Amino acid sequence: MSAPSSEYDVAVVGTGIAGLAAALALARNSCRVVLIGPRQALPPGGNHYHPRVYAISPASRQLLDRLGAWAAMPAERRAPVDAMLVYGDRGSAVELQAWHAGQADLAEIVEATELERGLRNALQVFGVPWIEAEFQGLSRQVNDPRHQIQLSDRSQVRAALLVAADGARSAVRQAAGFELRQRFYDATGLVVHLNAELPHQGRAMQWFTADGILALLPMPDTTEGPQVSMVWSLRSAQAEHLLSLGQNEQAVHLTQRLHTVTNNILGTLQPRTSLRGFPLALQQTPVLAHNGVALVGDAAHVVHPLAGQGLNLGLGDVHALAQAVAEREPWRSAGDERVLRRYARARAEPLVAMRLATDGLYHLFDIPAPPLAWLRNTGMQVVNQMPWLKRQLIRHASGF
Ligand SMILES: Cc1cc2nc3c(=O)[nH]c(=O)nc-3n(C[C@H](O)[C@H](O)[C@H](O)COP(=O)(O)OP(=O)(O)OC[C@H]3O[C@@H](n4cnc5c(N)ncnc54)[C@H](O)[C@@H]3O)c2cc1C
Repeated sequence: MSAPSSEYDVAVVGTGIAGLAAALALARNSCRVVLIGPRQALPPGGNHYHPRVYAISPASRQLLDRLGAWAAMPAERRAPVDAMLVYGDRGSAVELQAWHAGQADLAEIVEATELERGLRNALQVFGVPWIEAEFQGLSRQVNDPRHQIQLSDRSQVRAALLVAADGARSAVRQAAGFELRQRFYDATGLVVHLNAELPHQGRAMQWFTADGILALLPMPDTTEGPQVSMVWSLRSAQAEHLLSLGQNEQAVHLTQRLHTVTNNILGTLQPRTSLRGFPLALQQTPVLAHNGVALVGDAAHVVHPLAGQGLNLGLGDVHALAQAVAEREPWRSAGDERVLRRYARARAEPLVAMRLATDGLYHLFDIPAPPLAWLRNTGMQVVNQMPWLKRQLIRHASGF
């Protein structure tokens, strides 16, 4: 990659998937971009599958394809989702098939490391400079709209637009004075890959129960047979208990509980990676961009993972920001207030819709009271009988 100078149109802080994609999308729009953040070593693939996987929507896939990152990912490490089965807590179910909406698939399951590898390769091809240092602070001089950005290696860069892609605890967001609204769920996201006794047949499955929301995502088969990835939003006390057990006891306990919740639909499920837990929260910033700073990805919003849409939302931010910057008038800089307002406007509706949908669904199933339980289960049965509504649900989930 070319040696970094210190003057740029755009500085992107954060080297997760949102940051890598933002740097690439803006560089492809002829901006001089610098990427700032640590460069973790990516483990080789083989029979090892990274614990964090994403359900990438068709819209995100198109963006990654345009950025030159999708084709670089080996097809054998991706698993298409052909159908989705959602079960309520009283025997109700909704089944969504890709063909209901005339699509090849509903999403593709991909490991975080494969996405990062694909994006890093594309960045290298594009010659985007990457400074392996942490963001430490920012300042502005009088009569100069550009940001002066201080880094942990004592270097400084100047940029008209600063993109905060540094995750849920964003230091850039804080330094730039954005308000953050945060609420924790009484739930922990448990993540593990499981060997399944029976083939998943490209189906993603989800169970809404009184104790939480269990999702099993299809993964590529391994030498040990069929594999699924589990994301279980479980009440925090129960999750802590499970995480506190020794390895063998934990595996037995997990297998038993999964047997009960899934009604053994995939046969015996046995952990093939260690169980990890993430606290789950709802986060939002009432302002998405101002004063030459734009928030993208988890720096801007965190939603409950029950819809598997967190990263897709972040990639939607990247798409909208790159578009607002590309379409700016020639006399405006990338960090111009008008450009940032256009970005914020483009994201307002999708962000509110996803926040309301995920938070609403979480609370709808969080209340075991009989009238509500009857209503939500009847609602699911009704949805399942309505092909038009199912088509709309699929189309909505296929966007950003
Ligand atoms: C259990 C669970 C399951 C999920 N499943 C899905 C799913 O199926 N599909 C989906 O779309 N989403 C899912 N999500 C959400 C998804 O994980 C996040 O939305 C996504 O990882 C956010 O990416 P990001 O690049 O914005 O942030 P991050 O991945 O957090 O990246 C932030 C980057 O910033 C860097 N950084 C931090 N501080 C600094 C600093 N001071 N200076 C420089 N760099 C810094 C970090 O090193 C990191 O590289 C899930 C979340 C959870 C908790």
